[in-house]
Amino acid sequence: MKILQDKTVIITGATRGIGKGIAELFADSGANVIFTYASSEEKAKAIEKDLKGRGVEAIAVKSNAADYHACEELVALALDKFETIDVVINNAGITRDGLLMRMTEENWDEVINTNLKSVFNMTKAVQRTMLKQRKGSIVNISSVVGVKGNAGQANYAASKAGINGFTKSVAQELGSRNIRCNAIAPGFIETEMTGALDEKVVQEWRDAIPLKRGGTPEDVANMALFLASDLSAYVTGQVVNVCGGMLT
Ligand code: NAP
Repeated sequence: MKILQDKTVIITGATRGIGKGIAELFADSGANVIFTYASSEEKAKAIEKDLKGRGVEAIAVKSNAADYHACEELVALALDKFETIDVVINNAGITRDGLLMRMTEENWDEVINTNLKSVFNMTKAVQRTMLKQRKGSIVNISSVVGVKGNAGQANYAASKAGINGFTKSVAQELGSRNIRCNAIAPGFIETEMTGALDEKVVQEWRDAIPLKRGGTPEDVANMALFLASDLSAYVTGQVVNVCGGMLT
Protein backbone atom coordinates (compact mmCIF):
# COMPACT_ATOMS: atom_id res chain seq x y z
CA MET A 1 0.00 0.00 0.00
CA LYS A 2 1.25 3.47 -0.87
CA ILE A 3 2.07 5.86 1.96
CA LEU A 4 -0.77 8.34 1.21
CA GLN A 5 -3.17 5.79 -0.31
CA ASP A 6 -6.71 7.27 -0.61
CA LYS A 7 -5.83 10.35 1.48
CA THR A 8 -7.31 13.67 0.39
CA VAL A 9 -4.78 16.47 0.08
CA ILE A 10 -5.27 20.15 -0.70
CA ILE A 11 -2.23 22.01 -2.04
CA THR A 12 -2.34 25.75 -2.70
CA GLY A 13 -0.35 26.99 -5.70
CA ALA A 14 0.75 23.85 -7.52
CA THR A 15 1.20 24.94 -11.14
CA ARG A 16 4.94 25.45 -10.79
CA GLY A 17 8.02 24.84 -8.67
CA ILE A 18 7.65 23.42 -5.17
CA GLY A 19 3.85 23.05 -5.21
CA LYS A 20 3.96 21.10 -8.47
CA GLY A 21 6.74 18.87 -7.08
CA ILE A 22 4.63 18.12 -4.00
CA ALA A 23 1.52 17.40 -6.11
CA GLU A 24 3.43 14.91 -8.27
CA LEU A 25 5.08 13.07 -5.36
CA PHE A 26 1.80 12.93 -3.42
CA ALA A 27 -0.07 11.55 -6.43
CA ASP A 28 2.65 8.93 -6.89
CA SER A 29 2.17 8.13 -3.19
CA GLY A 30 -1.55 7.41 -3.70
CA ALA A 31 -3.18 10.69 -2.61
CA ASN A 32 -6.13 12.34 -4.29
CA VAL A 33 -5.02 15.91 -4.94
CA ILE A 34 -7.00 19.13 -5.07
CA PHE A 35 -4.69 21.97 -6.02
CA THR A 36 -5.12 25.65 -6.67
CA TYR A 37 -3.60 28.30 -8.89
CA ALA A 38 -3.93 32.05 -9.31
CA SER A 39 -3.91 32.49 -13.10
CA SER A 40 -2.02 29.69 -14.91
CA GLU A 41 -5.14 27.99 -16.33
CA GLU A 42 -3.42 25.99 -19.08
CA LYS A 43 -0.61 24.71 -16.86
CA ALA A 44 -3.18 23.77 -14.21
CA LYS A 45 -5.22 21.71 -16.67
CA ALA A 46 -2.07 19.94 -17.94
CA ILE A 47 -0.99 19.10 -14.38
CA GLU A 48 -4.49 17.88 -13.50
CA LYS A 49 -4.32 15.51 -16.48
CA ASP A 50 -0.80 14.36 -15.57
CA LEU A 51 -1.82 13.62 -11.96
CA LYS A 52 -4.87 11.64 -13.07
CA GLY A 53 -2.53 9.63 -15.29
CA ARG A 54 -0.77 8.55 -12.08
CA GLY A 55 -3.92 6.69 -11.00
CA VAL A 56 -5.46 9.16 -8.53
CA GLU A 57 -8.23 11.76 -8.54
CA ALA A 58 -7.00 15.29 -9.27
CA ILE A 59 -8.86 18.59 -9.40
CA ALA A 60 -7.40 21.97 -10.37
CA VAL A 61 -9.25 24.95 -8.89
CA LYS A 62 -8.67 28.61 -9.63
CA SER A 63 -8.78 30.00 -6.10
CA ASN A 64 -7.10 33.02 -4.52
CA ALA A 65 -5.43 31.85 -1.30
CA ALA A 66 -5.48 35.43 0.02
CA ASP A 67 -9.31 35.46 -0.11
CA TYR A 68 -10.97 34.09 3.06
CA HIS A 69 -14.26 33.13 1.40
CA ALA A 70 -12.53 31.55 -1.59
CA CYS A 71 -10.70 29.24 0.86
CA GLU A 72 -14.00 28.30 2.52
CA GLU A 73 -15.45 27.48 -0.91
CA LEU A 74 -12.38 25.41 -1.79
CA VAL A 75 -12.73 23.29 1.36
CA ALA A 76 -16.48 22.86 0.72
CA LEU A 77 -15.73 21.67 -2.80
CA ALA A 78 -13.12 19.21 -1.52
CA LEU A 79 -15.54 17.83 1.08
CA ASP A 80 -18.31 17.51 -1.47
CA LYS A 81 -16.02 15.42 -3.64
CA PHE A 82 -14.04 13.40 -1.08
CA GLU A 83 -15.78 13.65 2.35
CA THR A 84 -12.53 13.90 4.32
CA ILE A 85 -9.53 16.21 4.16
CA ASP A 86 -6.43 14.57 5.54
CA VAL A 87 -3.68 17.01 4.59
CA VAL A 88 -3.39 20.69 3.70
CA ILE A 89 -0.20 22.05 2.17
CA ASN A 90 -0.12 25.84 2.34
CA ASN A 91 2.37 26.54 -0.43
CA ALA A 92 1.09 29.56 -2.40
CA GLY A 93 3.52 32.43 -2.07
CA ILE A 94 4.85 35.49 -3.87
CA THR A 95 7.71 37.97 -3.55
CA ARG A 96 7.62 41.74 -4.04
CA ASP A 97 11.24 42.49 -3.17
CA GLY A 98 12.77 45.88 -2.51
CA LEU A 99 14.59 47.81 0.18
CA LEU A 100 12.27 49.20 2.83
CA MET A 101 12.99 52.72 1.58
CA ARG A 102 11.28 51.85 -1.71
CA MET A 103 8.76 49.27 -0.52
CA THR A 104 5.18 50.45 -1.06
CA GLU A 105 2.18 49.71 1.12
CA GLU A 106 0.83 47.65 -1.77
CA ASN A 107 4.06 45.55 -1.87
CA TRP A 108 3.62 44.89 1.85
CA ASP A 109 -0.10 44.06 1.74
CA GLU A 110 0.14 41.78 -1.30
CA VAL A 111 2.91 39.66 0.25
CA ILE A 112 1.36 39.48 3.72
CA ASN A 113 -2.07 38.58 2.32
CA THR A 114 -0.85 35.96 -0.16
CA ASN A 115 1.81 34.35 2.03
CA LEU A 116 0.51 34.71 5.60
CA LYS A 117 -3.21 35.49 5.60
CA SER A 118 -3.65 32.58 3.18
CA VAL A 119 -2.33 30.19 5.85
CA PHE A 120 -4.85 31.58 8.37
CA ASN A 121 -7.62 31.34 5.74
CA MET A 122 -6.96 27.70 4.90
CA THR A 123 -6.40 26.59 8.48
CA LYS A 124 -9.67 28.24 9.60
CA ALA A 125 -11.51 26.71 6.65
CA VAL A 126 -10.28 23.16 7.34
CA GLN A 127 -10.23 23.27 11.13
CA ARG A 128 -13.80 22.11 11.77
CA THR A 129 -13.43 19.13 9.42
CA MET A 130 -10.14 18.01 10.98
CA LEU A 131 -11.56 18.44 14.50
CA LYS A 132 -14.48 16.17 13.58
CA GLN A 133 -12.13 13.63 12.00
CA ARG A 134 -9.80 13.89 15.03
CA LYS A 135 -6.97 13.70 12.55
CA GLY A 136 -5.15 15.94 10.14
CA SER A 137 -1.78 17.28 9.05
CA ILE A 138 -1.20 20.89 8.04
CA VAL A 139 2.12 21.72 6.39
CA ASN A 140 3.03 25.35 5.81
CA ILE A 141 5.75 26.29 3.34
CA SER A 142 7.83 28.95 5.05
CA SER A 143 11.43 29.97 4.19
CA VAL A 144 14.85 30.21 5.83
CA VAL A 145 14.38 33.94 5.25
CA GLY A 146 11.63 33.83 7.89
CA VAL A 147 14.20 32.54 10.37
CA LYS A 148 17.19 34.74 9.54
CA GLY A 149 15.75 37.77 7.67
CA ASN A 150 17.04 39.13 4.35
CA ALA A 151 17.85 42.64 3.16
CA GLY A 152 15.37 43.61 0.44
CA GLN A 153 12.75 41.15 1.63
CA ALA A 154 11.31 42.71 4.82
CA ASN A 155 7.75 41.96 3.68
CA TYR A 156 8.55 38.38 2.62
CA ALA A 157 10.64 37.64 5.74
CA ALA A 158 7.85 39.02 7.97
CA SER A 159 5.26 36.85 6.21
CA LYS A 160 7.38 33.72 6.65
CA ALA A 161 8.30 34.49 10.28
CA GLY A 162 4.55 34.97 10.83
CA ILE A 163 3.92 31.52 9.37
CA ASN A 164 6.43 30.02 11.82
CA GLY A 165 4.70 31.59 14.84
CA PHE A 166 1.26 30.63 13.53
CA THR A 167 2.41 27.04 12.96
CA LYS A 168 3.69 26.62 16.52
CA SER A 169 0.52 28.17 17.99
CA VAL A 170 -1.84 25.99 15.95
CA ALA A 171 0.21 22.91 16.90
CA GLN A 172 -0.33 23.76 20.58
CA GLU A 173 -4.06 24.47 20.15
CA LEU A 174 -4.96 21.42 18.06
CA GLY A 175 -2.49 18.78 19.21
CA SER A 176 -4.93 17.27 21.70
CA ARG A 177 -7.24 16.46 18.76
CA ASN A 178 -4.46 14.71 16.82
CA ILE A 179 -4.15 17.57 14.33
CA ARG A 180 -0.52 18.28 13.56
CA CYS A 181 0.87 21.51 12.14
CA ASN A 182 4.45 21.91 10.90
CA ALA A 183 6.35 24.24 8.60
CA ILE A 184 9.10 23.62 6.07
CA ALA A 185 11.70 26.35 5.61
CA PRO A 186 13.32 25.81 2.19
CA GLY A 187 16.63 27.50 1.42
CA PHE A 188 17.61 28.21 -2.20
CA ILE A 189 15.43 25.97 -4.36
CA GLU A 190 16.07 26.00 -8.10
CA THR A 191 12.75 26.48 -9.86
CA GLU A 192 11.65 28.11 -13.14
CA MET A 193 11.82 31.39 -11.28
CA THR A 194 15.51 31.03 -10.37
CA GLY A 195 16.27 29.76 -13.92
CA ALA A 196 15.91 33.37 -15.06
CA LEU A 197 18.76 34.54 -12.78
CA ASP A 198 22.35 35.14 -13.88
CA GLU A 199 24.20 31.77 -13.89
CA LYS A 200 27.33 33.27 -12.28
CA VAL A 201 25.30 34.62 -9.33
CA VAL A 202 23.48 31.31 -8.95
CA GLN A 203 26.80 29.40 -8.94
CA GLU A 204 28.09 31.66 -6.15
CA TRP A 205 24.98 30.84 -4.12
CA ARG A 206 25.49 27.11 -4.75
CA ASP A 207 29.15 27.34 -3.66
CA ALA A 208 28.14 28.97 -0.37
CA ILE A 209 25.84 26.05 0.56
CA PRO A 210 27.46 23.16 2.52
CA LEU A 211 25.91 20.54 0.18
CA LYS A 212 27.23 22.60 -2.81
CA ARG A 213 24.00 22.70 -4.80
CA GLY A 214 20.65 24.41 -4.92
CA GLY A 215 17.69 22.38 -3.71
CA THR A 216 15.07 20.86 -6.00
CA PRO A 217 11.29 20.85 -5.63
CA GLU A 218 11.66 17.11 -4.96
CA ASP A 219 13.92 17.82 -1.96
CA VAL A 220 11.11 19.89 -0.42
CA ALA A 221 8.40 17.45 -1.55
CA ASN A 222 10.15 14.58 0.27
CA MET A 223 9.98 16.50 3.55
CA ALA A 224 6.35 17.44 2.85
CA LEU A 225 5.57 13.74 2.30
CA PHE A 226 7.13 12.83 5.63
CA LEU A 227 5.21 15.56 7.48
CA ALA A 228 1.94 14.73 5.70
CA SER A 229 2.14 11.00 6.40
CA ASP A 230 1.89 8.92 9.56
CA LEU A 231 5.69 8.55 9.52
CA SER A 232 5.70 11.89 11.37
CA ALA A 233 2.87 10.96 13.77
CA TYR A 234 4.84 12.34 16.75
CA VAL A 235 6.09 15.52 15.06
CA THR A 236 4.21 18.81 15.45
CA GLY A 237 4.97 22.51 15.92
CA GLN A 238 8.31 22.26 14.09
CA VAL A 239 9.93 24.44 11.46
CA VAL A 240 12.15 22.10 9.46
CA ASN A 241 14.90 23.67 7.35
CA VAL A 242 15.40 22.04 3.93
CA CYS A 243 18.36 24.13 2.87
CA GLY A 244 21.42 21.97 2.17
CA GLY A 245 22.91 23.16 5.44
CA MET A 246 22.69 26.86 4.48
CA LEU A 247 21.19 27.74 7.85
CA THR A 248 23.49 26.11 10.38
P1 NAP B 1 6.42 29.74 -7.79
O1 NAP B 1 7.21 28.91 -8.75
O2 NAP B 1 6.38 31.22 -8.02
O3 NAP B 1 4.90 29.17 -7.73
C1 NAP B 1 3.95 29.80 -6.93
C2 NAP B 1 2.63 29.05 -7.04
O4 NAP B 1 1.68 29.73 -6.21
C3 NAP B 1 2.05 29.06 -8.44
O5 NAP B 1 1.35 27.86 -8.65
C4 NAP B 1 1.06 30.22 -8.40
O6 NAP B 1 -0.03 30.09 -9.31
C5 NAP B 1 0.54 30.09 -6.98
N1 NAP B 1 -0.02 31.32 -6.43
C6 NAP B 1 0.53 32.56 -6.37
N2 NAP B 1 -0.31 33.41 -5.78
C7 NAP B 1 -1.43 32.70 -5.46
C8 NAP B 1 -2.67 33.01 -4.84
N3 NAP B 1 -2.94 34.25 -4.42
N4 NAP B 1 -3.58 32.02 -4.68
C9 NAP B 1 -3.33 30.76 -5.10
N5 NAP B 1 -2.19 30.40 -5.69
C10 NAP B 1 -1.25 31.36 -5.88
O7 NAP B 1 6.92 29.54 -6.29
P2 NAP B 1 7.96 28.48 -5.66
O8 NAP B 1 9.32 29.01 -5.87
O9 NAP B 1 7.64 27.10 -6.08
O10 NAP B 1 7.61 28.68 -4.11
C11 NAP B 1 6.56 27.97 -3.47
C12 NAP B 1 6.55 28.30 -1.98
O11 NAP B 1 7.84 28.02 -1.44
C13 NAP B 1 6.28 29.77 -1.68
O12 NAP B 1 5.53 29.90 -0.51
C14 NAP B 1 7.67 30.34 -1.49
O13 NAP B 1 7.65 31.49 -0.68
C15 NAP B 1 8.37 29.18 -0.82
N6 NAP B 1 9.82 29.17 -0.94
C16 NAP B 1 10.44 29.09 -2.16
C17 NAP B 1 11.83 29.09 -2.23
C18 NAP B 1 12.57 29.00 -3.55
O14 NAP B 1 13.81 29.11 -3.54
N7 NAP B 1 11.92 28.78 -4.67
C19 NAP B 1 12.58 29.18 -1.06
C20 NAP B 1 11.92 29.26 0.16
C21 NAP B 1 10.54 29.24 0.21
P3 NAP B 1 0.00 30.76 -10.81
O15 NAP B 1 0.93 29.89 -11.61
O16 NAP B 1 -1.39 30.70 -11.29
O17 NAP B 1 0.54 32.15 -10.61
